[in-house]
Amino acid sequence: MTAGGLAGRFAGLVCDLDGVVYAGDRAIAHAPETLSALNVPVVFATNNASRTPHDVGEHLRRLGVDTTDDAVLTSSQAAARVLARDLPSGSPVLAIGGPGVGEALRAAGLRPVDSDGELAVAVVQGFGHAVTAADLAEAAHAIRAGARWVATNDDATVPTERGPAPGNGSLVAAVRMAVDVDAEVIGKPHPPMYQMAAEVLGIAPSRMIAVGDRLETDIRGAVVTGMSGALVLTGVHGPADAAAAPRELRPDFIVTDLRGLLEEYPAAVRDGDWYTRGTARARLTADGLVVEGDDINAVRASLDALWAAVDAGHLRGDEAGELLTSG
Ligand SMILES: [Mg+2]
Repeated sequence: MTAGGLAGRFAGLVCDLDGVVYAGDRAIAHAPETLSALNVPVVFATNNASRTPHDVGEHLRRLGVDTTDDAVLTSSQAAARVLARDLPSGSPVLAIGGPGVGEALRAAGLRPVDSDGELAVAVVQGFGHAVTAADLAEAAHAIRAGARWVATNDDATVPTERGPAPGNGSLVAAVRMAVDVDAEVIGKPHPPMYQMAAEVLGIAPSRMIAVGDRLETDIRGAVVTGMSGALVLTGVHGPADAAAAPRELRPDFIVTDLRGLLEEYPAAVRDGDWYTRGTARARLTADGLVVEGDDINAVRASLDALWAAVDAGHLRGDEAGELLTSG
C-alpha cells in the first residue's frame, strides 16, 4: 500500500484492460502486483462487449489481480444501464453480439430478445464473433420500426493474432447504411462509459484518473469526461504517437508501465527554452530536439517541449512525432 505516488493524487482510477493489464492471455509485466497494491478504488472499464464481468473478473484474478466482478464495467453493462434508466423493467431489447450483451440486459432488468418476432423497443449492438448479416438485418428492421439504437462501442477494428479484423464500429456502420439514424455509442471515447465508472465509485470525474494504452479511446475519453488521463506505454501507442497527438488526445501523464502510478511524478518546470521533469530536460533547437537524461522523465520533458512548439505554431504534430522518434 502506498499513500503517495501519482495515483495518490486521485480519489479513484479507471483502468483499461487490453494492453494495460493483459495482452491476450498473459499479464503485462508489473500490472497485477501494482493494481493489488494501489490504495485507490479501481474500476476496470473495457469496450469489449462480448465477455461478461464475471469472465473478465476471473481472467484478472487468474493473472493475480486482487479484484471482484463488481469492479469490472463492460460496454455491454454500461449500454444496458443507460437503457434501464429510461425503459420500464422487463422491456424487450434486441440483443446483438456475444453473451455479454444479453446477460447485461438481464442484469439491468431488461429482457433480451433475438429476433423481431416480438417488437423490440431498443437494440443493443455489441461485438460478437458469431454475429451474422441476418442479425444486422434484424437490427436494421427494429431501428426502422422505431427502436432506440445503442452501440456498445464503435472501435473500427478488433485485434486478432492475424492482425486487425472488423470490429463493432464496422458492424455498426453496416447497419447505419440501412437506417436513417445514428447509434448512441456508449464505450470509450464517448462519455457514458467513463461517467458510469465515476458513478460506480461515487466519485466526481474531476477527482479521477483514467489509465489506458490508446490515445483515441482511453485518453480522449478522459479528456471529454473531465478526468485526468495517463498513457501507459505497454500497449498500442508510444511517445511519438503522443507527440503527434492533437490537444484533445494528449495524456496528462505518461508512465512506462503501471508501476509509474505508485511513483512520484515530477512537475513540469520551464527555464527559458528548457523543459525539465525531475533529472531530465529537453529543448527544441534549429537542429532538432536536445534531450538530457534517458529515463521516462526524458520522454515527459521532450513532450513538454514538442507540445509547446506545436501549440505556438512552430511545428506540425506529425513533425513533433518524427522529432521524438529520431531524438
Ligand atoms: Mg487497451
